[in-house]
Amino acid sequence: MKKYALDMTGKQFKTAAKSIIDGDYRLSQIAKWIYEKKSDSFENFTNLPKELREKLSGKFLLRALKIAKKEKSALDGTIRYTFETLDKKYFFAVFLSTGGRNSLCISSQIGCPVKCAFCHSGKVKFARNLSGGEIIEQVLQIENDTGEKTSSISFMAMGEPMLNFPNIVFVLNSLLSNKGFGINKRRITVSSMGVIPAVKKLADKNFGIRLALSLHAVDQKRRKRLVLNDLGFRVEDILEAGKYYLKKTNSHLTIEYALIKGINDFTADAHKLARLLKRHELINSNVNVSLIPFNSVVNIKFQSPDCEAVQRFKNILKFNRITANIRPAKGADIKAACGQLGY
Ligand code: SF4
Repeated sequence: MKKYALDMTGKQFKTAAKSIIDGDYRLSQIAKWIYEKKSDSFENFTNLPKELREKLSGKFLLRALKIAKKEKSALDGTIRYTFETLDKKYFFAVFLSTGGRNSLCISSQIGCPVKCAFCHSGKVKFARNLSGGEIIEQVLQIENDTGEKTSSISFMAMGEPMLNFPNIVFVLNSLLSNKGFGINKRRITVSSMGVIPAVKKLADKNFGIRLALSLHAVDQKRRKRLVLNDLGFRVEDILEAGKYYLKKTNSHLTIEYALIKGINDFTADAHKLARLLKRHELINSNVNVSLIPFNSVVNIKFQSPDCEAVQRFKNILKFNRITANIRPAKGADIKAACGQLGY
């Protein structure tokens, strides 16, 4: 069986290919074809001898995903990709372009075991983790398809990245490496509902990337209603983990808060959120709150908050010297906005 090249580190590839490749020069040529030129076939590696290309083709696989569907928003040009895996499973990634900057929102799992009540991905039965190569391939394929270079990447599409920790670490090494994608660490965001041990391990690795913690509620009872499988992690402890992350990395923390009408959009909630952030020493220039007005999802009965309620919530945070922004619903007409990715 062929080995999936994108699942391997440079060292692993070198070992697996040692019977057919002589020297590191060839390896760096191959890495260039894979990551810089994003070539999907060894036949295209034209500065390699034909015989070597044939041997590589016989031994390794460069693509394990197929773009099964591609939808483009008529509203804002956002593109929603549906990927098909070799074992015939489906997941999503989103390409967003704003003001000349291209952002990718990529998946880490097929289905999501966290099952947030407001999220379409949470309705998709968890099938498996994506491999490191399958995560990286999303970036390669979308860059190839759009012809655009990626400016920033967020792990916010399908799945909880911190439940796929070893593969996320593998991918981060590749995204940050100059031999891989060479993306600036501050342009990568990993989002987590707050898997505290993994968040702390990520902090200790000190990649310097941005962290987003999905809080969504200011008390345990309502959080449990929104994040159905909260794995027992508590609001206060999640914020402490955020503080630990900042202390270790000196990077940036976003607190994500999905606003849902009549559930968690009250002024009292905004005040309590401000108090919580103050108590955990999270009011500073390295922290912001991202307010995400609920985007409608089929068969989910929640309602979007009124514009006034969203603005009021933001103003209360601002009054407390907390940087807050309202996340726009990009690609809502193709169900590509936050929480809308599902079958
Ligand atoms: S919001 Fe994130 S963690 Fe929650 S179900 Fe959706 S993909 Fe999973």
